[in-house]
Amino acid sequence: MVREVRENRSSFYKVKCPDCDNEQMIFSKASTTVKCIVCGRELAVPTGGKANLKAEIISESK
Ligand SMILES: [Zn+2]
Repeated sequence: MVREVRENRSSFYKVKCPDCDNEQMIFSKASTTVKCIVCGRELAVPTGGKANLKAEIISESK
């Protein structure tokens, strides 16, 4: 039996804005800058692979 292993699984992070404590979901491979929907602070910056998160990760869902 051959089992195909995929390493490109995507996931979502639940993060907390360090400025206003707003919690929102961010795609782990966000291709655009993600800003807090409340205060506009940058929460994730695209790097070409996994987004560079600038907020505290509360939980991760796959
Ligand atoms: Zn905020």
